[in-house]
Amino acid sequence: MKQIVAIDGPSGAGKSTLARELAKRLGYQHLDTGAMYRAVAVAARRAGVGLDDSRGLNRLCKNIEIRFEHSSGGNRVLLNGEDVSRIIRTPEMSSASSAVSAVSEVRLHMVRLQRKLGRGGGVVAEGRDIGTVVFPDTRAKFYLDASVEERARRRWLELKKKGMAEPFDRVLADIEKRDRDDSTRVDSPLRRAEDAIYVDSTSMGPEEVLNLICRVVKDLEGGDENN
Ligand code: C5P
Repeated sequence: MKQIVAIDGPSGAGKSTLARELAKRLGYQHLDTGAMYRAVAVAARRAGVGLDDSRGLNRLCKNIEIRFEHSSGGNRVLLNGEDVSRIIRTPEMSSASSAVSAVSEVRLHMVRLQRKLGRGGGVVAEGRDIGTVVFPDTRAKFYLDASVEERARRRWLELKKKGMAEPFDRVLADIEKRDRDDSTRVDSPLRRAEDAIYVDSTSMGPEEVLNLICRVVKDLEGGDENN
């Protein structure tokens, strides 16, 4: 049976690449929940709503539409019909998304939408609270980690490739701050679910991580069919 695959972990651990490739291999949909918080951050900035203004953000979330368009070229994120896939990835939106994601009203809206999108299974959802809050009952649960220096190095390379080069020290400081913010916030802090499989990718290549996780999910798919 098709599974709901939950992949959580800190920024820069490689969740997005893994989730995208895993979804491709399994024929599942990729649900990038971080992109949703990033889209809220873009909408807030544009509407002049403060990043900690819970009432303003609540109203904003009720009035925006966030959608994904899946194609072989990758996921596109649409905010009220506009493709914001590129702008959500700027360093400014990275820290703004971390701020809006600490607001409970925003989380309520996003979690509701995520559950709707994942209903029925056949989805690879990545984020910070997928295994703990969004889909706590799923069995295909992973926590992807790597050392903070390695995660900063990967993020730095990724930004450089996209023509958004930043000094390494700034990228490292940004990741450290997001780790702190994500794991100390009151609502749905980043933490490993007790039943999640812990994968430390510091010295693993992306293909190795992908093969490992793919094998576990396929076993779960097959196990269900044999029951
Ligand atoms: O994963 P990504 O870096 O794109 O996420 C952007 C921000 O959204 C993160 O810094 C994190 O604070 C927040 N987030 C979250 N819960 C999720 C996914 C992302 O709080 N499920």
